[in-house]
Amino acid sequence: MRVRFAPSPTGQLHVGNARTALFNWLVARRHQGTFVLRIEDTDRERSSDALAEAMLAELRWLGLTWDEGPDVGGPFGPYRQSERVDLYTRAARSLLERGQAYYCFCSPAELERAREEALRQGTPPRYSGRCRGIDPAEAAARVARGEPAAIRFAVPPGARDISFRDVVRGEVSVSSLVVGDFVLVRSGGLPAYNFAVVVDDAAMGIELVIRGEDHISNTPRQILLYEALGHRPPAFAHLPLVHGPDHAPLSKRHGATSVAEFRARGYLPEALVNYLALLGWSPGGDEEIVPLDEMIARFTLEHVSRSPAVFDFDKLAWMNRQYMRMLPASRVAADAMPWFVARGFVTDAASTEARAYVELLLPMAVGSVDRLEEIADRVAFVFAWQAPEARALVEAEEDGRKVVEAFAEAAAAIGPLVDRETFRRAVAVAREATGLKGRALLHPLRAALTAAESGPELDVLVPAIERGAALGTSAGIAPVRSCLERLRMVIEVAR
Ligand code: GLU
Repeated sequence: MRVRFAPSPTGQLHVGNARTALFNWLVARRHQGTFVLRIEDTDRERSSDALAEAMLAELRWLGLTWDEGPDVGGPFGPYRQSERVDLYTRAARSLLERGQAYYCFCSPAELERAREEALRQGTPPRYSGRCRGIDPAEAAARVARGEPAAIRFAVPPGARDISFRDVVRGEVSVSSLVVGDFVLVRSGGLPAYNFAVVVDDAAMGIELVIRGEDHISNTPRQILLYEALGHRPPAFAHLPLVHGPDHAPLSKRHGATSVAEFRARGYLPEALVNYLALLGWSPGGDEEIVPLDEMIARFTLEHVSRSPAVFDFDKLAWMNRQYMRMLPASRVAADAMPWFVARGFVTDAASTEARAYVELLLPMAVGSVDRLEEIADRVAFVFAWQAPEARALVEAEEDGRKVVEAFAEAAAAIGPLVDRETFRRAVAVAREATGLKGRALLHPLRAALTAAESGPELDVLVPAIERGAALGTSAGIAPVRSCLERLRMVIEVAR
């Protein structure tokens, strides 16, 4: 089973396109087939190599690796359309020779006038066929003299139904009368989308074309081209569009739309892939968390819905939270690292000690945040603690200072509160000294140590702070003040 994903590098990889890539990838993996990646960059004004590179990077990040493509090569390369122009030129020439295509000398201005006229009259704009009658020898002579010309497909005369069985949508049928003579090659020599895609899909042996429903109106033209070129058309599966919560096609005004944006906001690739799989496909049961290997085993296009899929940002956030829990802590820590670096909490991302320390901080965040980015926020108190803020909170508590003094004394006597047991011992000492317990005892302590009213459990955060203080900056982390230092700084200035 040979399938392909054929993005145009004219922007960032949209989640709708990423879902198309994923479904192709799943079909290929399920059938031990071949997943081909082809870059459709013949629109030289709107495409760029940098955008193509970025798309490949996003696909790799998602884990959707390809078997043939621009970087890995393969037996049907090159895999960038801009490097295949000869093939299109040759195919166009053979159509010209057989009278299945003709040169068109109409200027863009003339075509635009005709289009506007058609729209005014309420008829679908369709090329008039004006240049079809020009004698081919004369047309060739005009082209030889340098007159700009496009090459148009000569839609075979007579009415017929162009039909295909779409794997998702079922029987689709369009009258050939609505298909005007469309452009194959633009006057600059570059192929139009419909032409390049057919030449390539045929040359690359693609058996099943899985793409967005926005292309379904192109399919009848492509089928005519397969026939003209003497190839059997592949099977087609057109995926429902991805809509925003308001049921309009997902766009910027709904929020993030590209894979790069979700990545930058701290979504895990596994979570995004799982979420994208459920955009239009259902594994059958109620489960939402479907690991990749299970997805491969169960994926079928027959279970893809025909109606538009609604992108639910909250559901994705929920899923990301689940994956942060499920994946190994070392993985989550590694993926969260960029935010620790960006905030200056980690100064050497390559340091094994720094990595281990971030991993140690994870339990304070995982389970209570949705995105990797929020992990660093949640444990910011470890690195970014400020005495004045802590003091203000402590002073707002009735016995705040008394409690902090008692804890400072306890910590000084016991030493660093490196584990839960040591911490509990300090609590017992402070309880004895103050006669306070519960919230009255622990809340001022939290305020002093974290400069916040709420956060992770004290018996977890206290040892985490002490560990950071013990590591020191040579471990590749920002300086961490120990619990005793914090307590002392709060009371010192309060005096
Ligand atoms: N380059 C086209 C796009 O990005 C591909 C369409 C197709 O898969 O045929 O929309």
